[in-house]
Amino acid sequence: MGVSFDKEIETLPAEIHNFIKKRYTTQVGLNIFIEYSIDNLRDLLDILISKQVGISHLDWTKVVDGRLLIFVVIDMVKSPTPLEELISIINDKDYVLKITRADEFLDKFIYSRHLFPIFIGDDRVVAMGPPMMEGLIISSRELLGDAASANLLYHIGYAMGRSLYEYLKSNVGKWDLESGMRFLDAVFSSYGWGRIKRYIDQENKLTIHVENLWECEVYKKRAEEPKANLFEGCLAGFLEQFYNKRLIVRHTGCASCGDDYCIFEITIP
Ligand SMILES: [Zn+2]
Repeated sequence: MGVSFDKEIETLPAEIHNFIKKRYTTQVGLNIFIEYSIDNLRDLLDILISKQVGISHLDWTKVVDGRLLIFVVIDMVKSPTPLEELISIINDKDYVLKITRADEFLDKFIYSRHLFPIFIGDDRVVAMGPPMMEGLIISSRELLGDAASANLLYHIGYAMGRSLYEYLKSNVGKWDLESGMRFLDAVFSSYGWGRIKRYIDQENKLTIHVENLWECEVYKKRAEEPKANLFEGCLAGFLEQFYNKRLIVRHTGCASCGDDYCIFEITIP
């Protein structure tokens, strides 16, 4: 039986604007703590717009005890109002609790130390950028050798998959394959790992199609066959608990090698 989670749906990337590469010297970041209400938010944006300030990036935190932090990276190039005057105008508003310049370094990066920690839904998450993604996948191999690195990644993935199984179990108790696959899709797509496009459930074999799997995309720039040891381990860790038996997971097709998506075949003995 084949179950498709989507047809060709439109996607747009999710962004968290807390660490920005500075493109122009006229860009500056502001941390603005306000008493939260829609009207206050609108008033604050109206100030920026009326002062002809370009808004390059905008993000905000959860509302905690009625307070909200706006982190905004603005471009002052077209604004006739000097920055210090703009800060003073904002600061004079009753609903503004505090305004500070965001941290900058090397005249290259702007970031907010206030947007922390990061939550997806109710759960704290951690993110990895390109240096860490490549470090985990590529540099670990240079340090440990091919076989040990593949083995390590597989087992880390396996432990993650098993934890995901326990997480779901602690929330809902029992579930069927479709709900389990839906849960994996929710985790992998929400956390930016990739999207499960469909799965095909045949006797003794489960095939899973995954779009934009980050682990394979790390290899894209490199002229070599992509591997997905971490993801294979993750599938094995989750599904071995589900089926309660040892499985063989193989990565039989890859989006980084010209296939439409990455294909994982799981043999269920
Ligand atoms: Zn792949």
